[in-house]
Amino acid sequence: MNYDLNHFSVYDKLPIGIFILRLEDRDTLEFRNIYVNQTNSEIVGVDLKEFEGQTLRESFPSAYDHGLPNKYLEALDSQKPVKIGEMQYGDDKVKAQTWYLEVIPVDENTVMLTTENVSELKKTRRELTEKNNILKSKNQELEQFTYITSHDLQEPLRTINSMSELLKENLSEQLSDQSEQMLNFLTEASSRMQQLIRDLLDYSRLGKEPSRSDVDLNQLVENVKSDLNSSVEKLQAHISTSSLPTVHGHPTELRLLLQNLIANALKFHKPETTPSISISGKKEENHWLIKVSDNGIGIAADHQERIFMIFQRLHPKEKYEGSGIGLAHCKKIIDHHGGRIWVESTVGKGSTFYFTLPAN
Ligand code: ADP
Repeated sequence: MNYDLNHFSVYDKLPIGIFILRLEDRDTLEFRNIYVNQTNSEIVGVDLKEFEGQTLRESFPSAYDHGLPNKYLEALDSQKPVKIGEMQYGDDKVKAQTWYLEVIPVDENTVMLTTENVSELKKTRRELTEKNNILKSKNQELEQFTYITSHDLQEPLRTINSMSELLKENLSEQLSDQSEQMLNFLTEASSRMQQLIRDLLDYSRLGKEPSRSDVDLNQLVENVKSDLNSSVEKLQAHISTSSLPTVHGHPTELRLLLQNLIANALKFHKPETTPSISISGKKEENHWLIKVSDNGIGIAADHQERIFMIFQRLHPKEKYEGSGIGLAHCKKIIDHHGGRIWVESTVGKGSTFYFTLPAN
């Protein structure tokens, strides 16, 4: 079949540069440019077609300084493509840029050199790496800052706490009711602050667990259930599990995650209702989807995103205790595992927390 197609005109349209070179003398490594496609000229910005027919040494002597002819010979001898990779190349005709080069043998004497200008790509990659490094160091700084401040704030707070206790003891006879109440507020406030600082410290430590291992989520739920046994018994809560997988992750963090979700499901139960919590897993494409459902008080749609932020709570501390860091911990843990966490909920009916974990 003859479609009357000029194959070289097809090469001219390819998005990569092509040089076809024929070996003339193995001893002197002489090659002749027998074809240069149009794309090359566009990439380089100079018409390279005029070098067709010339020898490599005449047209691009710098190719020898870069060892290119040896690569051509390697491709010819092995009759296999040789990836030269990224190379900075420039001479009196070609502006110095970073090229990605590959040599493909065409027959026993002819090779095809493909060229791609990757300068932009390299620049973008370098910029991305730089930005990434800045981000990493800022993140480290921030974590260190949280750690140091929260760690150092503990000490003066401990002093405030114990001094106000001592004051109360020493002055118990002389204190008016009002002053005693004020002292009580002081101790309560500093204890609360101590708890917040402890939570912040825990938060800043998350993500530091070095090793991952296979973690059986069934076993993890059993352990959490026994940790929360007194609440479970008191509320006569029913906790069921189904199809929970073994995942690859950080065991302490995953335990904290489930502990927070189950403890919340117990804490935010509906009054006069027996808490019922079900935890299940399902494989989806390349991840596991885990669901923790309860029949509790539910969460209004407006709040369903902000509850994952640090210290965000929806109820006064007198009604439900807690500092509002549990779900922020869960989010950080899931981020650290490369998954996603979210909630679907109806006020008065219950909530379902979903999270994903990569499947091996
Ligand atoms: P904490 O439990 O210490 O208040 P969390 O970060 O664990 O903090 O939760 C943030 C808020 O999200 C809670 O104060 C509560 O209002 C809401 N919440 C969390 N889990 C549930 C749940 N299972 N049912 C209803 N509300 C919930």
